[in-house]
Amino acid sequence: MTKILVIEDEELIRETLVQLLKAHNFQVIAAQNGQMGVAAALREIPDLILCDVQMPELNGYEVLQTLRQNDRTSIIPFIFLTAQSAKAEFRRGMELGADDYLTKPFTKEELLGAIASILSKRKTITQPLTEALHQVEARLNDLVNDSANTHTISPEKLNLEIELRHALANNELEVYYQPQVGIDLGKIIGAEALVRWNHPEKGRISPAEFIPLAEETGLIIAIGEWVLLKACTQAVKWINLGFPNLRISVNLSARQLSDSQLLQRVMAILNTTGLKPANLELEVTESAVMENVSLAAATLNHLKSLGIRIALDDFGTGYASFGYLKQFPFDSLKIDRCFVSNVVTDAHNKAITTAVIQLGHDLNLTVIAEGVETDTELAFLRQHHCNIMQGYLFSPAQPAAEFEKFLVTGKCLPVKSVKSLTSVSSRIIPCPPLLEGEKSLPFRLKSGFDYKNSSF
Ligand code: C2E
Ligand code: MG
Ligand code: MG
Repeated sequence: MTKILVIEDEELIRETLVQLLKAHNFQVIAAQNGQMGVAAALREIPDLILCDVQMPELNGYEVLQTLRQNDRTSIIPFIFLTAQSAKAEFRRGMELGADDYLTKPFTKEELLGAIASILSKRKTITQPLTEALHQVEARLNDLVNDSANTHTISPEKLNLEIELRHALANNELEVYYQPQVGIDLGKIIGAEALVRWNHPEKGRISPAEFIPLAEETGLIIAIGEWVLLKACTQAVKWINLGFPNLRISVNLSARQLSDSQLLQRVMAILNTTGLKPANLELEVTESAVMENVSLAAATLNHLKSLGIRIALDDFGTGYASFGYLKQFPFDSLKIDRCFVSNVVTDAHNKAITTAVIQLGHDLNLTVIAEGVETDTELAFLRQHHCNIMQGYLFSPAQPAAEFEKFLVTGKCLPVKSVKSLTSVSSRIIPCPPLLEGEKSLPFRLKSGFDYKNSSF
C-alpha cells in the first residue's frame, strides 16, 4: 500500500487530507509541524510527502532541504501545499527539488491527479535504479560470503579483508566528492568521487590502505561498481539541480580495467541512472594500463566511443613511456601531487610540472593538477596555463551534501588568486550572478565571451 506523509500545521486541513487519502486506499501518516514531519519521514520512509510551506519552527522549504540531504529520504517525491501562488515562491520550492506544487484551495481531483502522476513517473525512474542497486548488492553479498576466495596474505591483511567484506554488507563505505576547479574562471567544473571506509571501531580507514587490498582480493570489482553507481546517481541529482555541465570523475582500478564485464556494467549504470556519457570521466593510472596494454587500449577506446572521457591519473609516477600516451584515447592528464607539491621552490618539480603541462597541451589534453595546497602553487599553475586544479587549497573530498553546498552557493577560487589572471582577466568580473541554465557562476562574463563553449 502506498504510504503518504502529510505535514500540515492547520488541523482542519490536515485531518481533511488524511480522511480523503485514506478513503482512496493510501496508508497515511500525519505530522503537525516541520520537525515532527522530518522525524516521521526518516522513521517511516514514505512513498510520497505532502507538505505545507508556511509552518512555525521548520518551514516547508527547510523540511525539503533537510530531507534532500539525507541519503534515505533524498529521492522521496515531495509536493508543496501552499496558499501562496507567487511565482518566486513556486520557483524556490522547485529549485530546492520539489516535484510539484499545489496552491490552496485545490480540488480533490487536482490533489489525486498530482499524486498519481508523480507516483507513476517515479516508478519508471526508480524501478531500474532500485533493481540495479539490488543487483550490485547481490554481487557484494556473493563476495562477502565467498569463503573460498581467501588468499595467501598476512594475518593482518586477512583480518582487514574479512572486515572489508563486512563493510560492504554493512554500509560502512561512503563516497566523498573532491571539487575540480577551472583555473582561469575559478568555478567548479566537476568532482572526483573518492571512496571512504568508516570503520565502526577503527574510524576512517584510508583508501590508500584498503584499495590495494581490495585490488589484490578482487573485491575492487564490486566496490568499484558500487562507487560508480553511487557517483552517477548523485551526479544526475546535481545536473537536475541546474548544473548541466557538471562532470563526475570515477577511478577505475587495474582489475576493473581487465574485467570482461566492465563495458556492460558501465553502460548499464549510465542507462539506469540516466547520466550522459559526456558527464562522466573515468580515471586510470599508468600502472593499470601497463598491466595489459592491448586489452586496456581496446577497453578504453570502447568507453571513449560511448562518449565517456578518459583521464590518465597520477601521471609521472608509473613506468609508462611517453609513446604510450598516443596509443590511449586520453582526454585529460592528471599531474600527480608529488610534482605539484612545492612546485615553486623545488627545481625538479618545477621542471617536471612545466614539461607535463606543455606535453599535455601539445597533445590536446586537458591538464589537471592534483594536490594543490597553496596560493603560490596555484599561481604557478595559472601562469603555466594548467586547466584544472584539485586540492586542499580549494577543498578536500567532502560528503555529497557539503559538495552540493559549494555548487549552490557558487564557491569559487579566492578573488586574490584570480587577480593574477593573465589574458582571461579582462573578460571576467569576480561576482556570483544567476544565469539561465546554470544556477551559480562564480563570475559574470562580459558580453562577447561564450562561457558555455569555453574549454573543458
Ligand atoms: P587519486 O585517485 O590520485 O586521488 C587523489 C588523492 O589525493 C585522494 O586521496 C585525495 O584525497 C588526495 N588529495 C587531494 N588533494 C590533496 C591535497 O591538496 N593534499 C593532499 N595531501 N592530498 C590530496 P584518497 O581519497 O586518500 O585516495 C587515495 C587513492 O585511493 C586515490 O588516489 C585512488 O587511487 C584510490 N581510490 C580512492 N577512491 C577510489 C575508488 O572509488 N576506486 C578506486 N579504484 N580507487 C580509489
Ligand atoms: Mg584519481
Ligand atoms: Mg591521482
